[in-house]
Amino acid sequence: MVKNIDVENNLTVIDPKIAEVIDKISGAILPVKKVIGSDYDRVIKLRSELLTLIKRNEPRYICPLCHTPVYLVCRHFTRSFFFRHKIDDGSCPIDTRGKLSEAEINARKYNGAKESESHKEMKKIIADSLKADGRFKDIAIEQVWKSQEPGEWKKPDVSARFDDKIRIVFEIQLSTTFLRVIVERKEFYLKEGGLLCWIFKEIKEEYPRLMQDDIFYNNNCNLFLANHESLHVSNEQKRLFLKCGWFEPIIENQKIGNTWKEEIVPFDQLTFDREHQRIFFFDYDREKQKLTQQLDRERFEQFWLSNNLNLYSDEISQKWQELSDSLSKHNILLPTQYDIHNGLTYLLNALYSAKYGKPIGYKFRALIQVAHQMENNHKEYLIIFGWALKIYGRSEQIKQEDSSGKWAKKVEKFKPLMQS
Ligand SMILES: [Zn+2]
Repeated sequence: MVKNIDVENNLTVIDPKIAEVIDKISGAILPVKKVIGSDYDRVIKLRSELLTLIKRNEPRYICPLCHTPVYLVCRHFTRSFFFRHKIDDGSCPIDTRGKLSEAEINARKYNGAKESESHKEMKKIIADSLKADGRFKDIAIEQVWKSQEPGEWKKPDVSARFDDKIRIVFEIQLSTTFLRVIVERKEFYLKEGGLLCWIFKEIKEEYPRLMQDDIFYNNNCNLFLANHESLHVSNEQKRLFLKCGWFEPIIENQKIGNTWKEEIVPFDQLTFDREHQRIFFFDYDREKQKLTQQLDRERFEQFWLSNNLNLYSDEISQKWQELSDSLSKHNILLPTQYDIHNGLTYLLNALYSAKYGKPIGYKFRALIQVAHQMENNHKEYLIIFGWALKIYGRSEQIKQEDSSGKWAKKVEKFKPLMQS
């Protein structure tokens, strides 16, 4: 019923005192301009509908700050609308503006949204999913968790004990869950030795992205949902399943991008990183680290191939420095200075020559010449070069290039060494 705001024809009064309301069904906090909209016929109907619901004690909209039901009032002359408290005794902070801090306002909005129908349903779905799995004990909805420290407590949406060991709590992510709340809860359960798992209602683009991201990115790019579908699987398998959504890193045009994945996954297959209060199915950080290393290695190879006569310039020296920095993050240590006359240069030229089947870093014509060069001048790398020829499948090529048979003789001589 909520449409995009048509600013020009919007039927809301200018500067309404109650600017937002909480939808008791979805738990969403909505701007009143969005609720009222520009369709006169519809607002008139909505007006009586809201009053009827209040009479039945099932109010649809409440004030985000005092949680009192609100109804629609129409100004006669302008035919414009605004919301008013059902009980208007001046006790709402909206009337005494300025007395609440930002944090208090946010906390009130959060608590208001927690009362919504959809939130209650979510708690039931999670608790029922836990009940399907015999390894969960002490399953409770909104049971107070008292801290060892006096006066500190939390009331998690759902809590349970897993495998007689882990005390676990499930908190439902609302559009009104602010970063402060997320951090506070994380710290609390970390201190208490409990494990906190955030559950999302849905993944939607229109979700306030930032609030979703605060949890998502701090949880190794994994997030969890509980819905009728995952409950059904839990009941069938007698094992807790949750729907997981995660990012998988991929290499795209020499850069790391992400693809979105979703799957219903068993809870006992998740990784619990208690130290960082993370629960995840896919280890995004590790995979990203792997791909970053791969990219850095490829960059190094490209550099080496493009500079294949091992020239020296300031530009090359700088590039070397950059590559050395990025590879050091993967514990691959290069000499800090680029030096064309060091052993590493001879070794890399030999290995890349073996890999590509042609001389790299030499003005030779054929791979066999690199082989002779190694045997003549860099015997210390001969074994490793020999292995590289084998691994890159160059034996046949070397045989063909060795028309004089000189190399074959050398190989015969070195065979015992290779075998040792
Ligand atoms: Zn109020």
